[in-house]
Formats: sequence, structure tokens, C-alpha cells
Amino acid sequence: MKALVFNGPRDIRYESFADPELLTHNSVILKVTKCSICGSDLHMYHGETLGGAPYTADTPKFCTGHEFIGEVVEAGKDVRTFKVGDKALAAGGAGCGKCVACLTGGPMKCANVHVFGIGPELQGGQAEYVCVPNADTVMLNTQGELSDEHALLLTDAMTTAYFGVTRADIKPGGNVVVVGLGPIGLIGVELALLLGAARVFALDPVASRRAMAEKLGAVAFDPTNDGVAHVLEATNGRGAESVFEASGASAAIASVLPLTAWGGTASFIGIPQPRDQLSMRLIMMKNITVRGGICQVTQTWPQLMPLLQQGRLKTAGLFSHHFKLSEGAEAFRLFDSRDEGVIKIMVDVD
Ligand SMILES: [Zn+2]
Ligand SMILES: [Zn+2]
Repeated sequence: MKALVFNGPRDIRYESFADPELLTHNSVILKVTKCSICGSDLHMYHGETLGGAPYTADTPKFCTGHEFIGEVVEAGKDVRTFKVGDKALAAGGAGCGKCVACLTGGPMKCANVHVFGIGPELQGGQAEYVCVPNADTVMLNTQGELSDEHALLLTDAMTTAYFGVTRADIKPGGNVVVVGLGPIGLIGVELALLLGAARVFALDPVASRRAMAEKLGAVAFDPTNDGVAHVLEATNGRGAESVFEASGASAAIASVLPLTAWGGTASFIGIPQPRDQLSMRLIMMKNITVRGGICQVTQTWPQLMPLLQQGRLKTAGLFSHHFKLSEGAEAFRLFDSRDEGVIKIMVDVD
């Protein structure tokens, strides 16, 4: 098959790769129809870390991508809820499928979890085909119910936004800051307003992203042009009770505690780098509750599906660019550029 293959930092290539085989009896093979690039893929692209060793040209090759949807073309004999022909999306990672965490808490809590497409342990779905282990606990059947855009966003971005926003202790009438207006941040703005925030401040250096946040109802500022000071000014120097960090960029992470009001909550979802630190002094002196973590993707679907079906959550206009799988290297380059107007990229595989 053809796939996007990690050959080293800033070196993602469209090339031939071994066809996936069923890893276990409870796996399926998905023929990928669409996939997308996640902001966290850029840490890999930059030669940074996603928790393990930093990525280098010596990292063994693997198919990239943990955001993909497709059609089941083969199902192992122990798969109960999917059959050949089903259209499905997969959570960004797969656990063992057997432990208490996998069966009750979601695969990301499994001691043996692997994220798709961040290393050779579990091949990714920026490819024509991908094996999804433990399909019953990892996949969602999307037959006829979801747009491709929503299905792709439910693999990670929308679920991570929901996870981060709900852990920011947003109260009706409260002030919220969303730091970083990529797809997760923009969905975070929409969700914060759905949860009753009176005012949502949004920070991002890219003007087109700020314009999208303002269209959703946020008040947007440029963090490179006194954005933090503007939020403090608008909140009488207090900051916001709820701050959602949705980028993982070091400057964004560093701005969160100064933006958080006394007694407020800071919620982080971006993958930090070893250089990123929080001030214990600010946490103590401002009584700040700090939360961070990796989203339990499958656990958010029961909440997000009704919001999408009822049209309460729209996540409109996030896919700004479309590429073919063969143009993957260019898609990564453009996504990494954070050029004006680049929000999220859909890669057409079919
Ligand atoms: Zn991701
Ligand atoms: Zn498990």
C-alpha cells in the first residue's frame, strides 16, 4: 500500500509500506477514506518528543497519523460489533482490549496503550489501510450519521476540546480564556459558550484564527501584542476563573497561570516539552487548580454525538485545506507553517 511514512524530522514521505495484517483476533483492517493531521503530530515533525525519546532521522520508519476514518474491509473472528462494510472512526489510541481500563475506562488508561502513528509499535492511519486492534473498544460506527468532518474531529480534536473544557470548571456566567486557536481551541471556544461562559477571551498570534474565534462569540487578542495584559484589563486585573490551554506551544503554556484568576482552574491538553515549566509560586499564591491529561476519547462520544445531532455544536469551517495522500509532505509543511487561513487539513485517501 501507499502511506505517509516518517523518515525523520520534517521528512514525511508518501511511499510504499507493508500492508497491515490483523494483529489480533479482535482487530479490524480499515480502508482509510479520510485522515487529518493533528497539532501533536508537529512535535514529531519538529524532532521533539511525544513522551518518549525525541524523534530523529534514526527513529525506525512508521506510518504516521492518529486521526482517520474509513470502511471495515476485514474483521477478526472475535470482533463483535463491526462487520465488513461498516463505516467507522477510531479513537487516537488502542489499548489491550481486555483489562478493566479498556473495558470500562477507555483505552487511553490501559497500561499497554499505543497511540496510532507516533512510532513503529502501532502503525498510523495516514495510509491506505490501517489495522485497528481491539476494535470493539476503540471504534465508533458512523454509518450514515456523521459528516466526514465531524467523524474526523471525533477521533481526537473535538474530544480533546471537550475533555479540556469540561476540566476547566467553567461556570454559567464565568470568564474563560482559551489559549491557542487551532481546531481544538476553536472548538473549545464554542464549547465554553455552550457551557454558559459569559465571556470567552481567545488568544492566538494568527489574525485569521482570532477572526474565527470572534465569529463564534469570543473576544480575541494577539498574545504577541499585549494579549495577556488585555485580558487582565478586561477582568479588572483578576484574570479568568477558567483557562484552557489548547496549543502545547511553550509561550502559550507559560501564559496560562498569569491569566488564571485567584481560585481559578487551568486545564492543559497540549503535549509539553521538557523545557516547559509551571510556577509553583503562582499555583500556591493564587490557589490555582491545575489539570492536564490525555483525553479518554471514547468516553466523550456519548456526550458529543447528541450535541452534534441536535446542531448545538457546529464546529463549522475548521477544515481549511484539502490534500491527496500523495501530497502529504506538502500538507505537513503547510500545516506546520501556521500561515494565515490554515486551520485543519483533510487528506483524501479514497
Ligand atoms: Zn492528536
Ligand atoms: Zn487494556
